Amino acid sequence: MTPILMTGLQSEPDALKSSMSEAVARTLASHRFILGHEVQRFERSWGSYCDIAHAVGVANGMDALEVSLRSLGIGQGDEVIVPGLTAFATALAVARCGATPVVADVDPRSGLLDRASVERCLSDRTRAVILVHLYGQLREASEWVHYCASRDILLIEDCAQAHGAAEGGVTAGAFGEAGAYSFYPTKNLGCFGDGGAIVTNSGELAERARVLRNYGQTSLYRHDVLGLNSRLDEVQAAILSARLEWLDEFTESRRANARDYRSRIRQDVIGIFDAPTEPSAHVYHQFVVTCERRDSLAEYLDARGVQTQIHYPLPIHHQPAAANFGRDPAGLANAEYLAATCLSIPCHPQLTQADRDQVVGAINAFQGELTA
Ligand SMILES: *Cc1c(COP(=O)(O)O)cnc(C)c1O
Repeated sequence: MTPILMTGLQSEPDALKSSMSEAVARTLASHRFILGHEVQRFERSWGSYCDIAHAVGVANGMDALEVSLRSLGIGQGDEVIVPGLTAFATALAVARCGATPVVADVDPRSGLLDRASVERCLSDRTRAVILVHLYGQLREASEWVHYCASRDILLIEDCAQAHGAAEGGVTAGAFGEAGAYSFYPTKNLGCFGDGGAIVTNSGELAERARVLRNYGQTSLYRHDVLGLNSRLDEVQAAILSARLEWLDEFTESRRANARDYRSRIRQDVIGIFDAPTEPSAHVYHQFVVTCERRDSLAEYLDARGVQTQIHYPLPIHHQPAAANFGRDPAGLANAEYLAATCLSIPCHPQLTQADRDQVVGAINAFQGELTA
């Protein structure tokens, strides 16, 4: 029995494979590898896909966050609030720009940032909140816009898991000052290496990001600020343009997987997060269940040919590298609970009905054995 994997890269359509080969061949033949036509073309199509005025390609998703923060003038002496349940890169980007991450708790029904906890994390040094659209979900994003405006702090979106998610007709990345996307290979839109982009409706911010990503260079060999080397390369941009053609179809497949899981996975000892506010608001980068016997469940599924992963096993404030970060003085009980109980199950676009039957069957059998 071939196991059901967490990603579908092995079984993608031939038409996609050949358009990617064509894209790579075209780029190799152009002999232009950095900041050329392919990057410009992808930036334009990514901006228009997100319905956001500017997209700036960078080397990865963490740099997209760091460049966003630095473009907004955030640095030494500033505090930025981040959720306790996210990729470490969210918090690391804050530390890399010289500011202090302050870790807030999350909502146990979604895993997303909790407003009451953010309120407890505020200080007179708070400059921004990074809202992470964890697992691909947007939830009450416009309320976060109002909240941040009312507290006079900036809103930055970590869209690394939320390609194309939209709430109330507004796409991830268009709510805040800037949105940071990752195109790491396993993301909903991924390249064949590292890649990322900043999206923003501010022309000024986009221009600062363009300068920062390229050594702080304002014109050839003139450096007005200390920037970084963080460029999206031509080959990755060409691959992204080919893959973007398939994103809508792949997202619909992820949603169909999720609908099937929601309707058939029993919730005896397993929990499932709240359904999205509207179908478009969730792109199911991950489908996550919670279970107090999480490690036994993972082992049980593995033995029945179902791969799983944990996103994430250690909350940010428990990471050894986070000793100097701030945190909610009331504690982060929900982030800790979810880190101990969450399990991501296969939800990629190439899953078949038979694959889902196997996943659902194994999860329900596990629950049946526990409750028998
Ligand atoms: C993947 C990811 C990142 C980092 O992106 P990279 O391209 O790997 O640097 C940041 N935040 C979240 C939520 C992610 O999932």
